[in-house]
Amino acid sequence: MKRTFSILLLFTLLRIALAANTDYHFISTVYSQDTSIVADTIPFVMEDEEDEEGEMDAVSDSLVYLPSSDLYSSWDTAHIHTPKFDIASLKDDEKELLLFAEGSCGYYHPFNGKVTSAFGPRRKRYHYGVDIDLETGDGVSAAFDGKVRIAKKSKSYGNVIVIRHNNGLETYYAHLSKISVEIGQDVFAGDIIGLGGNTGRSRGSHLHFEVRYLGQPIDPSEIISFDNQQLLSETYCLSKKTFDYVAAAKKAAAKNIASSKNKKGARVHVVRKGDTLSAIARKYGTTTKVLCKKNGIKSTSILRLGQKIKI
Ligand SMILES: [Zn+2]
Repeated sequence: MKRTFSILLLFTLLRIALAANTDYHFISTVYSQDTSIVADTIPFVMEDEEDEEGEMDAVSDSLVYLPSSDLYSSWDTAHIHTPKFDIASLKDDEKELLLFAEGSCGYYHPFNGKVTSAFGPRRKRYHYGVDIDLETGDGVSAAFDGKVRIAKKSKSYGNVIVIRHNNGLETYYAHLSKISVEIGQDVFAGDIIGLGGNTGRSRGSHLHFEVRYLGQPIDPSEIISFDNQQLLSETYCLSKKTFDYVAAAKKAAAKNIASSKNKKGARVHVVRKGDTLSAIARKYGTTTKVLCKKNGIKSTSILRLGQKIKI
């Protein structure tokens, strides 16, 4: 009798231990799902796994919810830009984008200030956003509801936030003095996400604001009235025409390279903050190898500010 009791006790203890172990396994699975939101890159092809583990669906769906996951192949929190989609795939059909869903917080103007530079060609570079004048420390708001994909410091953008929205659009907020949100955070239109500033490649405090669709910049003034600080319409029609500027920008860039090639005398590039040999090579349509040979340097050489590089 005593022996039967001990066996029973042992069996019960074993069951408790197993149950605890299962719980532990469950918790650790959820935890790893949760952290994957903020991991560098997560492949978003998880359907098969989810189908197999039906039980996990409800949990993982609520934890790994990502906006526009049907349009983007990844949730990359390391690289500011996502690969650009093929414009030719748009054909001539217009694609109507609902700018905000019913029941969302709608649109909120990121900062109510004067536009100091519009989208379009500017000096030798194409300007892919709209610059809004502000003072360092002014609050910058999220334009639409969404999830923070990027919150980091970059050489050119300075402190930059990228928010992905449910309709496939992403909005960029650059040159901030302070970032007040974290990667993976859900934000609502009107939330203060950071403070305006003058970080990165910027001359004077301003907000550089971009709107992109699957990596391709869109002129924000086609969607937003910067005079009235509101949307022009609740929907936006994406068409090939939206991206007509891409061909024009490429042409202008080619012309710039050609014209600088035609200038008399040796071409020289003066090294500026953030320059790398490969970036200089790209800019002038040459290669790092050629630059190294011409300048007697190695590809690993550290560039000095003001150093003259023969092109
Ligand atoms: Zn700008």
